[in-house]
Amino acid sequence: MQFLKGKTALVTGSTSGIGLGMAHALARHGANVVLNGFGDAQAACDAVAAHGTKVMHHGADMTQPGEIEAMMTEAVARMGRVDILVNNAGIQHVAPLEAFATERWDAVIAINLSSAFHTTRLALPAMTQAGWGRIINIASTHGLVASAQKAAYVAAKHGIIGLTKVTAIEAANTGVTCNAICPGWVLTPLVQQQVDAKANALGITVDEAKRQLVGEKQPQTQFTTPEQLAEMAVFMCQDAASNVQGAAWTMDGGWTAQ
Ligand code: NAD
Repeated sequence: MQFLKGKTALVTGSTSGIGLGMAHALARHGANVVLNGFGDAQAACDAVAAHGTKVMHHGADMTQPGEIEAMMTEAVARMGRVDILVNNAGIQHVAPLEAFATERWDAVIAINLSSAFHTTRLALPAMTQAGWGRIINIASTHGLVASAQKAAYVAAKHGIIGLTKVTAIEAANTGVTCNAICPGWVLTPLVQQQVDAKANALGITVDEAKRQLVGEKQPQTQFTTPEQLAEMAVFMCQDAASNVQGAAWTMDGGWTAQ
């Protein structure tokens, strides 16, 4: 049953990784999809369109509020309305605080946190007017706990959980919900960079670096997949989840249970 038929989902940062997984799952359930992100947008559009729904891509840079506004306007013009907003675009930068480049701090905060403020403020009025909407913020275990050398990422992810709660409270009783998903390790290009850096730094194989990376944080030592996370997002779109409001749900192999 394509329970999202007639609805439109906009997923930021969806040319790769978790966002692309979200786009596939939402399209499989019938939603039209607005993709965003860099890289091979055409390949992502073709892959998602194979589910038989309408797909468009907008290349807005999530560091630029003006480009975000243009994306939201074009999405509405071409698709009708944004019913489901997945704030997923994100980058990582790893460095100790005293050596953390201020330009990298600004970029991480802009992409991982401020972009969600902009998309949310722009999408919310039409959702509340329609009496239905879903805002799903892709946070992280780093929205709940910290790790060394990830100051901007941890600050942004804690921030997006705060934004999730405020949005949820303001949207209460309108038919709109706002929730966060907090993944542990997912083997996407964002994490592959950290695996490669570890392998280089320690002179170990990539497979050993993967094992060490996950094992340092997660009692359960397999990576979560984009497909598993997307099923959580699909559930959040169902009527059964209409009273899930302001939550930060983990899928992290026990990382934050410790
Ligand atoms: P990824 O690198 O595979 O994908 C990131 C996406 O964001 C890409 O589509 C990229 O083009 C896009 N993007 C990057 N900068 C952008 C910008 N300035 N404007 C527009 N788009 C931009 O990464 P991923 O691992 O799939 O990460 C997706 C989200 O999941 C991020 O918010 C990340 O913090 C979060 N997350 C990832 C993990 C993990 O282990 N991979 C864990 C927890 C949370």
